Amino acid sequence: MKAIALFSGGLDSTIAAKLLIDQGIEVIACNINTGFGSTKDRLAHMLNMCEQIGAEFRSVDIRDEYIREVLFSPKYGYGKNFNPCIDCHAKMFEVAKRVMEEWGASFLISGEVLGQRPMSQNSESLQKVLNLSDCEGLLLRPLSAQLLTPTIPETQGWVNREKLESINGRNRDRQMELAVQFGLKDYEAPGGGCLLTDEKFSNKIRDFIAHDTFSVEDIPTLKYGRQLRLPERAKLIIGRNAEDNEILEGIENSKFLHITTKLFGPHCLISRNASDNDKVLAAKLMLAYCKQDFEGEQTLLFGEEELTTVSDLSRHDAQKYFI
Ligand code: SF4
Repeated sequence: MKAIALFSGGLDSTIAAKLLIDQGIEVIACNINTGFGSTKDRLAHMLNMCEQIGAEFRSVDIRDEYIREVLFSPKYGYGKNFNPCIDCHAKMFEVAKRVMEEWGASFLISGEVLGQRPMSQNSESLQKVLNLSDCEGLLLRPLSAQLLTPTIPETQGWVNREKLESINGRNRDRQMELAVQFGLKDYEAPGGGCLLTDEKFSNKIRDFIAHDTFSVEDIPTLKYGRQLRLPERAKLIIGRNAEDNEILEGIENSKFLHITTKLFGPHCLISRNASDNDKVLAAKLMLAYCKQDFEGEQTLLFGEEELTTVSDLSRHDAQKYFI
């Protein structure tokens, strides 16, 4: 018997998978990449957790489908920020069901806990997710299973319901107990959670869609660097540190031009259709963030095009353009 586990690398989804593995079920831990997971690379962490519990790891990229069908038109609306949690969960289960059929598995599991998150994990929301994703009966939530209607794997006897959990609410004592029992190590995931729940990141998306259409290749342009909107509508991104600069340098996006200078300083991107005034302003702001002393006029490259200006603005001047 094989099951697909919706897998984030977090403690709950790891324990949920382990509960099933201990019942002799083969578990494929499936991470669904919406593009908004985190700015940190969690792959090594997810592989480590899978190795500890004996699950196979696979990742599915749904970024394009997510932007087209979920992010801007959720049936059940948004949480506090740009997080369409109910529709997002439903999309993940819909995708998991699709791969379940492709990969020859018989049911799905998730690490959701009844009552753990106010919007997306109360029993009404869990039911909405089932209806939206057409997964009724197929989705087993091992951590709260004893409090929920029995699913097909339980009624068919593929899984022993008695050996599953009845966790309810935000208290994590039982999860910690199970982590010790299973001997799990390093289960604290690096680098934060879903960016869509972050207020600042949500503002950046709102700003982006107010000025342009949004597609998959635009995701990294929101994740890295200081984000500024200039007076004549151009978007300017200024790298904050070496990591940002390296990532921004590698971005190839037809909506943006790279701005470079010989000075020691940030890597920048600006809207390809920026007006001349916005380009001059961008050049001055970029110079304000350079870390090297210099005097007089400086020449910067906007793509192939040269622009020469003096630096007469400060970092303080940049702040009024921050998104
Ligand atoms: S927190 Fe983010 S990833 Fe999780 S359900 Fe909500 S929108 Fe989706």
